[in-house]
Amino acid sequence: ASTGICVTGGAGYIGSHACYALGVEGRPPLVVDNLVTGHRAAVRWGPLAHIDLRDTTQLTHALWQHKTRTVLHFAASAYVGDSMQDPISYYDNNVCGMISLLQACLAAGVRHFILSSSCATYGIPQTIPITETTSQRPISPYGQSKLICENILRDAAGQAGMDFAILRYFNAAGADPSGALCEEHSPETHLIPRALAATCPQGEPLALFGTDYDTADGTCVRDYIHVSDLVRGHLMALAHLEKFGGSLVLNLGSGRGVSNMQIIQVVEEVTGAEVKVRKAPRRQGDPPSLIADINQAREILGFEPNHSDIHTIIADAARSFGLLKVQNAKSA
Ligand code: NAD
Repeated sequence: ASTGICVTGGAGYIGSHACYALGVEGRPPLVVDNLVTGHRAAVRWGPLAHIDLRDTTQLTHALWQHKTRTVLHFAASAYVGDSMQDPISYYDNNVCGMISLLQACLAAGVRHFILSSSCATYGIPQTIPITETTSQRPISPYGQSKLICENILRDAAGQAGMDFAILRYFNAAGADPSGALCEEHSPETHLIPRALAATCPQGEPLALFGTDYDTADGTCVRDYIHVSDLVRGHLMALAHLEKFGGSLVLNLGSGRGVSNMQIIQVVEEVTGAEVKVRKAPRRQGDPPSLIADINQAREILGFEPNHSDIHTIIADAARSFGLLKVQNAKSA
């Protein structure tokens, strides 16, 4: 029988973790994914509809057949750098995908909608930590496309009386502690998997962009949230919408900053291997520090990022790649 839940982008990194968590709760979702960056093998907790979001007819049919009442929308193009090179394809996939999905949702009678948004919508913030009311001035087409999606959702859901949550993630990282899933982006641009890869003999050295920032050790500071905490935040937001209706706009992060240098140190501690590093100039548009204020999520949902200390995140990521110290020792 249908659980009435659909996860777009459920073959991707965060979406597959959400499907796993829903499966554990006995609510396996329908996955809508075109597998452009996702993996067929990661779809294990519910059926796959191999559909591009922009195909409104097929999408409406799939949502209707599945009796969908709730959509968790993860599917998007999500590389800031790529979006600078090819802005039109980012607006096409993210904005046209959002419009098509909302048209299908309204036609199929969807009641609850949760959008993956991003701290990239804030651009370079004037103050740290970043609250939900910090002004949103994105500096990349990717961030811009997410802000447009937020605005379209507010207007469309408001008009149709659909309940919605906009969740602005900071840096998602780690993997489910069971080792059932891992982070698999291609190309990989995220710091933790790249630092882990740089411990392997065949791995590329890690490019460390900028060591002269006005931060404690000169490297950029970011807020990392364990993917399992992030997913739990979604389930809490969904429970809130199901109970109270209305709308939510929340940051999801750990509320703590970790520097690039600290990431390298913890990766070395956890794996027992050296991270090969290549120092590189600053990248344009990289703010020195991005840290979330998560008090709204705490107050409204009772959310706590329990697994988001950086050792736990990196140990879980290392385990999912088979790079834990104990495993290295065994194979040595
Ligand atoms: P991902 O690339 O692993 O997953 C995205 C999934 O969407 C893939 O499975 C891909 O095949 C699918 N997809 C893309 N375009 C599609 C389309 N037109 N039709 C159907 N399926 C399509 O990315 P992720 O890291 O899991 O990110 C998930 C979401 O979270 C994205 O919306 C991203 O912008 C957002 N986000 C991620 C982070 C992060 O740290 N990873 C931070 C902030 C926001």
